[in-house]
Amino acid sequence: MNTVYIALGSNQNNPVYHVEKGIRQINHLSQTKVLKKSSLYTTKPIGPQNQPDFINAVIKVSTNNNPVELLDILQEIEQQHNRKRVKRWGPRTLDLDILIFNELEINEDRLTIPHPEMIKRDFVLIPLLEITHYDFFIPKYGKIKKFL
Ligand code: ATP
Ligand code: MG
Ligand code: MG
Repeated sequence: MNTVYIALGSNQNNPVYHVEKGIRQINHLSQTKVLKKSSLYTTKPIGPQNQPDFINAVIKVSTNNNPVELLDILQEIEQQHNRKRVKRWGPRTLDLDILIFNELEINEDRLTIPHPEMIKRDFVLIPLLEITHYDFFIPKYGKIKKFL
């Protein structure tokens, strides 16, 4: 079993619905179960400011999938939410990012783990802290409390 943290974000067409539904879909996967779920946070967009606020959350899951399999599955769920890739950091119905996968460090075209922006993003760190603790160790980067 692998222990994985996933960040969810949405700012289109009832974002709370998309985030809650995304969490339910992940929990219904045969190889993956949700162990912990943060609160839902309302946050200001990064990048282009002329778009609605986001709803963000972080979940802890256990999975038997490997990282690339999990990425494929999460991208399929994004597509089911009718996500359009229009512009970087632009509005989206559902974004599912793999933050941490065990202690792994991956640097491939399709997959960078730990997620390289996570340590700079309060909308990730605060929900992650909520379901972990100040001494929680982010592989490659160190304790979460250094970044808060
Ligand atoms: P950001 O990664 O800065 O949060 P984003 O989530 O808006 O931006 P996306 O359009 O969702 O970016 O994804 C772009 C590509 O990022 C995906 O096609 C995927 O292959 C790649 N990617 C690399 N690392 C990861 C990761 N850890 N989790 C999810 N996708 C990743
Ligand atoms: Mg993202
Ligand atoms: Mg993404």
